Amino acid sequence: MDREEAKKRIEELREVIRDNSRRYYVDNAPVISDYEYDHLMYELEDLEKAFPEFLVPDSPTQRVGSDLETQGAGENAEPGIRREFAHYPHRFPMLSLGNTYSIEEVEAFAQRADKTLDTSFTYCCELKFDGTAICLEYRDGKLFRALTRGDGVVGDDVTDNVRRISNIPQQLHGDYPPEFEIRGEILMPYEAFDRLNRERIEQEEAPFANPRNAASGSLKLLDPEEVAHRGLWCTLYHIPSESLSFETHDQALRAAESWGLPVSDKRRICHGIEEIEAYIDEWDTGRKALPFATDGIVIKINEMAFQRTLGFTAKSPRWAVAYKFKAEQALTRVVSIDYQVGRTGAVTPVANLEPVLLSGTMVKRATLNNADQMALLDIRIGDSVYVEKGGEIIPKITAVELSRRPQDSEPPVFPDVCPDCGTPLVREGDEAKWFCPNTDGCPMQIKGRLLHFMGRKAMNILAGEATVEQFYNLGLVRTPADLYDLKKGGLLMLEGWKDRSAERFLESLRASRSVPFERVLFALGIRYVGESTAKEIARHFGDIDAVAAASKEELLAVQDVGEVIAQSVVDFFKDERHIRDVRRLKEAGLKFSLEEGQAVAGSDALAGKTVVVSGNFSLSRDEIKALVERHGGRSSGSVSGKTSFLLAGSKPGPEKVRKCEELGIPVIGEDEFFAMLPAMEHTESAPADKDDELTLFG
Ligand code: NAD
Repeated sequence: MDREEAKKRIEELREVIRDNSRRYYVDNAPVISDYEYDHLMYELEDLEKAFPEFLVPDSPTQRVGSDLETQGAGENAEPGIRREFAHYPHRFPMLSLGNTYSIEEVEAFAQRADKTLDTSFTYCCELKFDGTAICLEYRDGKLFRALTRGDGVVGDDVTDNVRRISNIPQQLHGDYPPEFEIRGEILMPYEAFDRLNRERIEQEEAPFANPRNAASGSLKLLDPEEVAHRGLWCTLYHIPSESLSFETHDQALRAAESWGLPVSDKRRICHGIEEIEAYIDEWDTGRKALPFATDGIVIKINEMAFQRTLGFTAKSPRWAVAYKFKAEQALTRVVSIDYQVGRTGAVTPVANLEPVLLSGTMVKRATLNNADQMALLDIRIGDSVYVEKGGEIIPKITAVELSRRPQDSEPPVFPDVCPDCGTPLVREGDEAKWFCPNTDGCPMQIKGRLLHFMGRKAMNILAGEATVEQFYNLGLVRTPADLYDLKKGGLLMLEGWKDRSAERFLESLRASRSVPFERVLFALGIRYVGESTAKEIARHFGDIDAVAAASKEELLAVQDVGEVIAQSVVDFFKDERHIRDVRRLKEAGLKFSLEEGQAVAGSDALAGKTVVVSGNFSLSRDEIKALVERHGGRSSGSVSGKTSFLLAGSKPGPEKVRKCEELGIPVIGEDEFFAMLPAMEHTESAPADKDDELTLFG
């Protein structure tokens, strides 16, 4: 490659790397695999070595990828992410790690260390936890501040959110130093990740690509209470050496453990490359049984004095290296491609695959996202394709094995009409997806909207896909309001319905009349209005008439609402049919305004109190937490020195109760809690039931 070509390629690589870095660190929505990203970086490093005249200090090879929100998030970012965190400088720069996928390079690292140190020393091998880096500062044993890595020099202050992570202690015990920093990783265990993605898919929100992105996105959420629900978890692995005088890294971690900090017990002291390789081999398979994601092994020189001798490059310590595991891949065949229509009309291509075993689960389908993605992959029916699990969870087709392509194969034709109702598809502006514009007539969209309305996080009506299909096919239900016209006698005439199932269904319909306004607003399925945005809008305007009458400018004044959401709300209420549906739902008795306590600021009966709610109550836990907030209190997910009392229903978390006993925090029951509130909160009963007549419609 000549100088000019090298210059051009270097510039190209820097641009592609920067773009993917923003998608990964800020939007938490990567579009290429880590392996691909790392190889772009290796190519850039090699070119900069060969042509050092083009090396500049702000090249991505010289800086850590930045998660700072000031860079502005792209269109793929999760809504509800706060954009304006306070920034604080790190006392010691937070760097990355040199990484490699090759054992030979780990050997070369060990040889270099041998040569430079020229004496005996040990390694501390650890799992490389696949989450997002965090720096915790403790002062006088109390958690003082939590910063993200940011750009390595300054980080975003996420202390409020970190306080909601249950295994991070607010108060240390034992012989801790008065002030110190400790670093580690915030992770989302697989179980919490699966739950979160199931909920997001139910709500037609894009699922997170892997637990790392989910953890990092959750850490930047607007609402600390929402963070508490995300099930994040922390493991700590480094005390910056200058801050304390330990002889070895391992000793520092033992001390941290003795102060109550969560430190992994999977590390091992190794005496040479054979022991390092044995550790790598062991965890290459062992990690598959862990409840959280790991993407490699970190090998660190254990003695602090030798770490100091080796020092740092601009981007990473010279005393450590990460050996990364390649994501597990499988080769299988594309049997067919389905085009699925969601409730918003978006058409998503999905590949049906010959079943193949990958990281312990059978993979049969993989999303192809959109038409552009299909074209980029150049995928055809009959092709052999490589399937990978991003962060080992969601199957993704990464490449086509062209050498196996059947000779007569043709590129698939993305439909130009809706596969369900035949309406010509449209693509607006720079949207990546094609849409079916037949919002009110397309069966898949109608059924999708009904399912969304009935969902657990919306109206929580007990009926699944099969029931919706039945209601739709019989022409009984077209809009959510139709559900409230169904009567027991009519249901009993339908196939498969028995007295008990009809009762359960009608009971859930009745209960949905006391679902709070913010969830009703979410249930309406206004495009881009997710759960937390609906809450903000409901609280800002107070009732549906005010929301429907709001101008775009007025909507923009709501926290969390940007141009796209504001326009979508305005468009929704411009449509006469939506106004009519809302009117019918109002007549059916749904809540379309905040309750008295919410609208008129509630009381300050719990002002200044931090309450932890645990166990089962006569109201849902979310309703109890809303009550706490309405009366000036704050609800928190974990017990700490700051907790005012634990509100315990039946079967409270034993760990929470134990911690309260330990810290001398009162534990109170539901009756005692209600006695603390003004009288109106005692009698929150469901509205009177309407008689179920023996006709299908009232
Ligand atoms: P990294 O994730 O490769 O390694 C450094 C990080 O490892 C540290 O910051 C720390 O957070 C973490 N870590 C986990 N366990 C550790 C332990 N036991 N000890 C010390 N550190 C530990 O580096 P990075 O700078 O955070 O990210 C760069 C990597 O991110 C790339 O190599 C790539 O794999 C990925 N990336 C992917 C894309 C994409 O588009 N797919 C884009 C940007 C970055």
